[in-house]
Amino acid sequence: MLPDRAKLATVTDAVIVGAGPCGMFQVFELGLLGLKCELIDSLPAIGGQCTELYPDKPIYDIPAVPVCTARELIERLQEQIKPFGAGVHLGQEVTSVAKREDGRFDVETSRGARFDAGTVVIAAGVGSFQPRKLSVPDADKHEGTAIHYRVKDAEAFRGKDLVILGGGDSALDWTLQFAETANSVVLIHRRAEFRAAPASVERMFALREEGRCDFMEGTVQGLVEDNGALRALKVAGRDGITRSVSLDQLLVFWGLSPKLGPIATWGLQLNRKTIPVDTQRFQTNVPGIFAIGDINDYPGKKKLILSGFHEAALAAFSVKEYLQPGQKVHLQYTTTSPLLQKRLGVTGESTESLGSARTG
Ligand SMILES: Cc1cc2nc3c(=O)[nH]c(=O)nc-3n(C[C@H](O)[C@H](O)[C@H](O)COP(=O)(O)OP(=O)(O)OC[C@H]3O[C@@H](n4cnc5c(N)ncnc54)[C@H](O)[C@@H]3O)c2cc1C
Repeated sequence: MLPDRAKLATVTDAVIVGAGPCGMFQVFELGLLGLKCELIDSLPAIGGQCTELYPDKPIYDIPAVPVCTARELIERLQEQIKPFGAGVHLGQEVTSVAKREDGRFDVETSRGARFDAGTVVIAAGVGSFQPRKLSVPDADKHEGTAIHYRVKDAEAFRGKDLVILGGGDSALDWTLQFAETANSVVLIHRRAEFRAAPASVERMFALREEGRCDFMEGTVQGLVEDNGALRALKVAGRDGITRSVSLDQLLVFWGLSPKLGPIATWGLQLNRKTIPVDTQRFQTNVPGIFAIGDINDYPGKKKLILSGFHEAALAAFSVKEYLQPGQKVHLQYTTTSPLLQKRLGVTGESTESLGSARTG
């Protein structure tokens, strides 16, 4: 009989904390060695910094890819890791990692998902991205009811009086969308210069001319409540006058900032916001927990995607060694190994023989 904990948890060889480019490539390297893994990220989409911070920027230093956008890189990685069928769990932070007496790990996420993992690979980059929050008194009290940092269900805002804060793409895109469905939309930004796409800004001003949305330059000074319900914002305008802007719902899109978050509580040795590792195994001070990509630290570390790819390859061999101690792991080439080709799903051959593979 399995204990209750094991019955509830997903059993896997490795949990990868962070689905940025390095965490994604870790799936590939573990998959080649026949290991199963689960990939978890606090963001709602895979790709880490590439997706979140610079999806349309060109990258020129990925070996053998002279140029591709960050979004394309993530799409290619997604394609490359497909054969290994890793479980992908987005929109949830890994909150707890606890080592058990048998050397395996109990891992839990903010959504209550549980994993019984042979190893943990931390590929958490610069940390877990969190929305920048409105910091006026009592704002936290209304979070999830009248104040939102993400739109989970656009229909919930239909027919409402909305105020949207921000000047980036999310703020402008939602202003344009809600101008169609809400009762009223007021966009508030501290100045009339925007980070959002110029076409969206132009469209917002056109809608304002038509009276379908409004725009105010100003900064939020406080909340106005009535019987505990949020009724309005106090907004100081550029002209120095503080006005009350009434609302049903407030949407804040001030971007995301990375926080090391719960990783700091997992008993790992830290060096500021990075995790020291050795360069042979990419293992942390806790045997069985590895760290790759921007989050790790060792002499000569360079925070580049290609460095993280190399680290993922070596970490995969160390994961295998941790799971099967004393068992020799052969280096094989994808070009010539029927076993690797079978794992990649690129051959019909079903041999598990290593006969024709190069070993090292
Ligand atoms: C503007 C810009 C341009 C760049 N250009 C280049 C370039 O040209 N070439 C290059 O090589 N590099 C470039 N970089 C750097 C490159 O993006 C990073 O080196 C790379 O993203 C690191 O990948 P990663 O997988 O280690 O981490 P990240 O991409 O940071 O991904 C880490 C992920 O882990 C998640 N996470 C963290 N903690 C948790 C937790 N507790 N639970 C769940 N999820 C968690 C985060 O949400 C995040 O999605 C650039 C960076 C920026 C900002």
